[in-house]
Parts: sequence; C-alpha cells; structure tokens
Amino acid sequence: MQIFKNISDLKEYLSNLNGSIGFVPTMGALHNGHASLIKKSVSQNDHTIVSVFVNPTQFLPGEDYEKYPRNEENDKKICESCKADILFMPSADEIYSSIEPKVIAPLKVASILEGATRPGHFDGVLTIISKFFNIIQPDNAYFGKKDAQQLFLIQNLVKTMFYKTKINPCEIVREDDGLALSSRNSYLNDEEKMLALKISRALNKAKSMVENGEVLAKDIKAKMSEILEPLKIDYIAFVTRDFKEINKIEPENSIILVAVYLGKTRLIDNLWI
Ligand code: AMP
Repeated sequence: MQIFKNISDLKEYLSNLNGSIGFVPTMGALHNGHASLIKKSVSQNDHTIVSVFVNPTQFLPGEDYEKYPRNEENDKKICESCKADILFMPSADEIYSSIEPKVIAPLKVASILEGATRPGHFDGVLTIISKFFNIIQPDNAYFGKKDAQQLFLIQNLVKTMFYKTKINPCEIVREDDGLALSSRNSYLNDEEKMLALKISRALNKAKSMVENGEVLAKDIKAKMSEILEPLKIDYIAFVTRDFKEINKIEPENSIILVAVYLGKTRLIDNLWI
C-alpha cells in the first residue's frame, strides 16, 4: 500500500494509473464500518484510495476536533488488511490555505436535524469532499448510510455540481448487540455503552411497528421516546429519502433518524424503511 501525505505526489501517482478509482473518505480511527466501505470499493474498482483526515472545518468551535480519536498506525493496518491500494493522510495545511472560497450546503436540508445542532457542519463536509473529488477524480466514492443526511447532501453536491463520481451508499455496520459502529463510541464508558443500546432498540421497535402496519410518525415517535428514556434526545425525525419531513411513513422511501446525548457524547443512528 502506498501512503501519501502531500497532494502533488498523490496526483502524480494517480496520473500514471489505468483503470477505475474507488475512494473512501474517512476521519480515521477506523473500525469495521469503515472496513466494509473499503472492501466494497476494492471489490468494485481497480484501485482504492482511502483518505484519513480529521477535517477541521466540519467541527464547530467547542466540539471535539482536538480530542477526536486519532490512531494512524491502526488505520494503516486496517487499510492494508482490507487491501486498499493508497492511503492519503494530508495535514490541514496541505488542504486549506489562508484565503478560501466558502462552500455553503443548501440550507433547506443543511439547517435541519444535524445542521440544527451543528450549524455550518455540512458546509465543512461539502468543502472537504469537493476538494478530495477535485484532487482524486474518483469514479466511485463510498459513504455510509449511518450519516444519512451527509450522504444526501453529497449526492446533491455531485448532481448539482456535475462531478463525475458515482456515490455508492453502504449499509450500517453494527456490533452484535445492535450498536452502530462509530469512532465516537470510544468516548463511552461501560454504563453509557449499555444505555446506547436503547438507540438500536428504539429503531428496531419502529421497524416492527411499521411492519405491523403503523404509519403515523407521532405514534412511532412516542414509542421510541419511551424506549430511549432516560437518554437526552436531540431529535427523533421522519423524512423521505430526499429529506423532506413527513408525518406518515412512506414505505421504501423513508428514513427514521435519531440523535441522543450520552453524557457529553452525541450519537446518531437511523433506519431506512
Ligand atoms: P467518518 O470517519 O465518521 O467520517 O466516516 C467515514 C465514512 O464511514 C462515512 O461515509 C460514514 O458514514 C461511514 N461509516 C461510519 N460508521 C459507519 C458504520 N457503522 N457503518 C457503515 N458506514 C459507516
């Protein structure tokens, strides 16, 4: 596996490659969720490039940018074991300069849910994805459904800005007990980890309610809130796959999203239904 820290070396290397390029952008502290994206890219492309970059512009002041888990050596091992061809680990100075145009995510979607608690977050996400797509020019890019709102905004970016990259949504990978894998799970103590299981339980309950014919968001939400107690809920939301809020589940076109706090840690999860 080739490791690059600077853009010009990477571009030079890429310019000599033939065949399709699959790209998996990450913030590192890699786990099996990331590994599933990498393996999918490896199976579908001639070359797979993984980026590990904790992107400062998608963190708000006071968020966990400084203490976000960083584990370069383990990230290298995971990329190698998944048979990635290239690992790109730039510094923030390599990516950002002192004068920058501003990418603004469309407010209609970027100001709700994650964007309501984290205003500006998606501007940072779209900025870094645009930069990476311009550097790498991937044929395919792989994103987890875990970050459903991010996935939608990236699909919208590609469509409206006419990037050549195809966006490939990937299923959420969970622990055996149902907890969705997340780099931020490492912040949880044992008690919080137990409490976090309520998130997937609430989503499973929603799933079985819908399977039994329930469509009303308010009734499903009431049951989910009960299961999530005593957690502090940021939101339980019901949207179409293009992120319009709905009162009734539309089968095969809905996402139920949850964000909760466990102490200082904020976790998100969702169900595509
Ligand atoms: P991150 O490193 O958190 O920015 O995530 C990088 C990519 O991995 C994003 O596309 C995430 O949606 C995806 N991802 C994170 N956790 C999971 C998971 N548990 N299952 C599937 N994909 C995931």
